[in-house]
Amino acid sequence: MSKKTVLPQQLEILRSHFKVMQQCSVCHVAFDEINIRVIEHIEGVSHLLYMDCSSCAHAIIVLVSISDIGVGIMGLLSDLSYDDVCRFKIREPMDEHALLENYNIVHKISFGKYLSVESRIK
Ligand SMILES: [Zn+2]
Repeated sequence: MSKKTVLPQQLEILRSHFKVMQQCSVCHVAFDEINIRVIEHIEGVSHLLYMDCSSCAHAIIVLVSISDIGVGIMGLLSDLSYDDVCRFKIREPMDEHALLENYNIVHKISFGKYLSVESRIK
């Protein structure tokens, strides 16, 4: 038997007003509460949510920020799992050395042989 998630009242109110929190952006199926997980919650300031669609399996990461002047909501369509989001959330940002190192790794891999149709025919 699945455990029902109870969202904080503040999120329930926001959810009733914002479509990005009500239904999947890809297939438009309504999110069940069980598909909405709170990654981080700072009382009265922000909520970071992970919402996955039970129909098409796409996920949306939603950042809700609350201030005296209003509410800002940003949704990001993602293929990350809930565990991936939790792991990346606590990682340090990538510095320029790590960026160049990763670029060199990717640059050394020859993707052309996989992308070129002509090379597959020969
Ligand atoms: Zn969907």
